Amino acid sequence: MKYILVIGDGMADNPVNELGGLTPLEAAKKPYIDMLAAQGILGSVLTVPEGFPPGSDTAIMSIFGCDPHYCYSGRAPLEVAAQGISLSLGDAAYRCNNVTLTDDETVPFENKKIVSHSGGGLCEKQGVELVEYLFNHPEFKALADEAGMCVYPTDSYRHIAVQKQADIKGLVLAPPHDHIGETVAENLPKGCENAAVLTKLMKKANELLSNHPFNVRRRSEGKLPGNAIWFWAEGTAAKLPNFFEQYGKTGAVISAVPLCHGIAKLTGLDVIMVEGATGEVDTNYEGKVISSLDALKTRDFVAVHLEGPDECTHCGDLKGKLQAIEWLDSRVVEPLCRALREKGEDFRMLILSDHKTLTSNRQHDGDPVPYIIYDSNNNTQAGLSYSEANGLKGRCLSAGIDLMPSLFELN
Ligand SMILES: [Zn+2]
Repeated sequence: MKYILVIGDGMADNPVNELGGLTPLEAAKKPYIDMLAAQGILGSVLTVPEGFPPGSDTAIMSIFGCDPHYCYSGRAPLEVAAQGISLSLGDAAYRCNNVTLTDDETVPFENKKIVSHSGGGLCEKQGVELVEYLFNHPEFKALADEAGMCVYPTDSYRHIAVQKQADIKGLVLAPPHDHIGETVAENLPKGCENAAVLTKLMKKANELLSNHPFNVRRRSEGKLPGNAIWFWAEGTAAKLPNFFEQYGKTGAVISAVPLCHGIAKLTGLDVIMVEGATGEVDTNYEGKVISSLDALKTRDFVAVHLEGPDECTHCGDLKGKLQAIEWLDSRVVEPLCRALREKGEDFRMLILSDHKTLTSNRQHDGDPVPYIIYDSNNNTQAGLSYSEANGLKGRCLSAGIDLMPSLFELN
């Protein structure tokens, strides 16, 4: 038996007016996923425990069997692990995004608005160039050194910053993707002394990045400049339970985003990198399928994570969200299942959205999400398509950590 987990990040949603009151999952054409739902077990699951911020960190940790109540120490530490960096006791890690703030130097920093959480979708080396410039700039470097802060750039807009011996007790940082259109002042770091240090760095970054040649070029091309950085996802060193020890299964994780790579490394799963996996709607779907099948040759389990639906929702791109769901169906789930059938392989597949991302406000939501568990040897004839409403008609799991035992038939 082979086991596959497919996560469509943020694809669950609430009914959308523009879709005639349907959710994107209901409106998108996804015949193959609907067929698996109709022949499998359809239910809903609370992936984000009450009291925790709804996001892929808490949700995906839960799905992989790590109870946030015991294991959650922030998002950035998970991404730190993805890069093979180990945090020392007392160090703090942050996500350091390239972002776009109101592109007008006459507006004071605090009054600027958050325009894009990704610097207008910076990819590959674009964001790296900006943060490397920044952390090497004498004025910024002096502040960063004083704060004990260094940066670990990653391809895309998602960099990691580590601050040596930093007190983050009480610190509140705003995830930029949840505050698009709001002012900087409403969302500045707060809650402890270190907040002022982070604010100072963010303000200086905006000052130095606005007229970086890269951004001048972006403007002339009609694109958003990556004119600022934003610290969020703070945390301290993380330790997660070992996947094989919990479930007795070997496995690998395929994803474009560092968060998933970090959870994989910390749970002892293999990370498989796929060329052209972007974390956007234009990702290399076919490459992910080939790598998944390859991973299963020598392992029991593979997880494929698609960030596209979430990213489109944060960008207010409803058409893109529908497309991402449709491609998840036709270019991932269908070819994966077909290939396994052709090989005569028995398999069980878990499909879900890690959390809702709402078209209405472009933010994450902690409501239960629908899941499918399909078994190639067992047609339940349940007959329902995959949607939020239909999920609620089935078995409701009160915690994400109940999913893997169901997939592996351990309960
Ligand atoms: Zn998201």
